[in-house]
Amino acid sequence: MSAQLVVLAAVFGAASSAFLPRVAHRLAVPFGQPPRAACASCGQDLAAWVRAGRSCRCSRAYAVMLVGALVAALPAAALGSSPLLPIHLLAAVPGLLLALIDVRCLRLPDRLVAVFALVAVVPLAVLRPERIGWALVAGAVVLTAYLMVALLPGGGLGLGDVKLAAVLATMLGFAGWPAVIVGLVVPHLINGPIALAMLLTRRGRVLPLGPALLCGALVAVTTV
Ligand SMILES: [Zn+2]
Repeated sequence: MSAQLVVLAAVFGAASSAFLPRVAHRLAVPFGQPPRAACASCGQDLAAWVRAGRSCRCSRAYAVMLVGALVAALPAAALGSSPLLPIHLLAAVPGLLLALIDVRCLRLPDRLVAVFALVAVVPLAVLRPERIGWALVAGAVVLTAYLMVALLPGGGLGLGDVKLAAVLATMLGFAGWPAVIVGLVVPHLINGPIALAMLLTRRGRVLPLGPALLCGALVAVTTV
């Protein structure tokens, strides 16, 4: 592990994620509605897409930048100067954006999941064409399993979760089945205790699964 590489990755993660709070704030709208033009709480104008820092007076950017630094530094520490590292660093940007939007409004917009798939899966297919078959099988298995849960009454899964889980399983399929399994189990180890705590404290709220799915993939990428 090169300390310089980890620091560089962390700087890239923090710098790129500084632009995400505003984009997440604008895109966190109910299905079918146009991007938000002003903050619903403080009324601040959000018309421009590209602006670093907090999106408005009632938001903070530091936490997002800290998470951005972390999700870039961890793969750098685990993968070193592997050709896989730039792929995971670039994928972390739309990944973090998806997590922020899901936390704000329980949605994983299709177009953004498609961007994530394009950034995370296509370069892996070019780099490791011999693994494409297994990766697609992993994606198809997870797609089918999650779709069945989503279609159950009270399954608690949205179709956005199903699509993101399938994309992440395809991505992890390039690394092998152990990575896919870790990526599937970890999200429930994260959301399970949180859901239980909310149940015990009677703070009823629907828990977004997207951030946990993305965390699971990060754990799989960095540990398997
Ligand atoms: Zn505001």
